[in-house]
Amino acid sequence: MEYVQEGPYRFRIRREGDMRVPGVVFASAELMRDAEKSLEQVANVATLPGIVTASYAMPDVHWGYGFPIGGVAATAVDDGGVVSPGGVGFDISCGVRLLAADCDRRTLEPVLRSLMDGLGRAVPRGAGPGGLWRPGGHQLERILAGGSRYAVEEGHGEERDLWRCEDGGHVADADPGQVGARARERGTGQLGSLGSGNHFLEVQEVTEIYDERVAGAFGLAPGQVCVMIHCGSRGLGHQVCSDHVRAMDRAMARYGIAVPDRQLACTPVASPEGRAYLGAMAAAANYGRANRQLLAQAARRVLRREAGARLTLVYDVSHNLAKVETHTVDGEPRTLCVHRKGATRAFPPGHPELPEDLRAVGQPVLIPGTMGTASYVLTGVPGGDAFHSTCHGAGRVMSRHQAARTTGGPQVRARLEADGIAVRPASSRGLAEEAPEAYKDVTAVVEAGQGAGLCRKVARLVPVGVVKG
Ligand code: 5GP
Ligand code: MN
Ligand code: MN
Repeated sequence: MEYVQEGPYRFRIRREGDMRVPGVVFASAELMRDAEKSLEQVANVATLPGIVTASYAMPDVHWGYGFPIGGVAATAVDDGGVVSPGGVGFDISCGVRLLAADCDRRTLEPVLRSLMDGLGRAVPRGAGPGGLWRPGGHQLERILAGGSRYAVEEGHGEERDLWRCEDGGHVADADPGQVGARARERGTGQLGSLGSGNHFLEVQEVTEIYDERVAGAFGLAPGQVCVMIHCGSRGLGHQVCSDHVRAMDRAMARYGIAVPDRQLACTPVASPEGRAYLGAMAAAANYGRANRQLLAQAARRVLRREAGARLTLVYDVSHNLAKVETHTVDGEPRTLCVHRKGATRAFPPGHPELPEDLRAVGQPVLIPGTMGTASYVLTGVPGGDAFHSTCHGAGRVMSRHQAARTTGGPQVRARLEADGIAVRPASSRGLAEEAPEAYKDVTAVVEAGQGAGLCRKVARLVPVGVVKG
């Protein structure tokens, strides 16, 4: 795939063949070498009906199902624009929640072992069933419609939590009726669980602040202990994606849509299939939000018991979602369906959808790195490109399989513990698959995002202990 460099952190894939728009990759020259493997997918996405401006790739881009992970694509809703489940991914509304503790690393040191043991016991994880809350009667229905808001109403959290959640903790327009029986069945047994491998609950320490004013508004200070939670909508979201990919694959031809890869199955946003998917997706997203709310409550109980500490929510944001948003395209406001897959929304200061106490500083953007390196908190910037989106993590350079061939769980654990990082893994193979070297350099990714004008650094965090899915 050919491309040209347009700036220090910007590359363009020229429009050719069936591409309706060019591809744009935000990366340094060095990260571009890793990105090259997924440029074919960036170009494929550019062929989707109704796509506007460009098919974007973030600096952490890597190969995914149909769309690359780290891809952003927006389609014009009133101009035949499509929605594609592959543009959201299987783990609908997978995302990150960050909580700040009222204590610093030093005060935690004497209780660290019992704290990590407590978190390890309190957090259900692994691939199978098992969760903190088994919803009965109409509760699953309410979760699908109400997300974290419903969880808080049922006593799982504080009202203030909801201000600090994207969408106030629940996605509007959920249509639980579009979530099939199998998806519900899978969801009933897994609410309040991490899931596997890449998902985690991590105790971290803030080691650097790049912008004191913004960090202060987020509630972050140097030396402070934080808890970062990364998980999504478990088997329920996965099943919703599978079910709707199948339905769209069958329906596509009726709308005269041909895609270069069946994994890009899509139909117009306004079609019955498109609306059904978006309703089901929103319901699955609400399940994912409630899931993170429950895990945060588990962490709060353990921190209070083991360390006498209190956790305050910094923010909760998804990195796998499609949203109908208004953006200016060629000087005109347009209603767009913005797909962010392995990409994080990054609203700038002044955005009307931000809660009042964040309005002046912008949206917190939560970027996990690896369990052995660092993670970052960023903020959105005025004029942010790619429909106000940025990266979502370090991004893989090795597949799970490759990583597990390169190293073993016990080695990874020994290395982390030698670095003073406590590990509570669900499985040894999972640890190997998630070895820090399986990922890009998160600092380079974040620098590229900032250099490209997508976001700005606010704080750097390092791992103290990790509970791995
Ligand atoms: P994904 O949603 O693509 O599965 O993962 C998002 C990002 O999480 C990855 O790109 C990676 O950078 C990061 N990540 C995966 N495992 C861990 C972990 O144990 N700790 C931290 N801090 N980050 C992780
Ligand atoms: Mn996920
Ligand atoms: Mn994720």
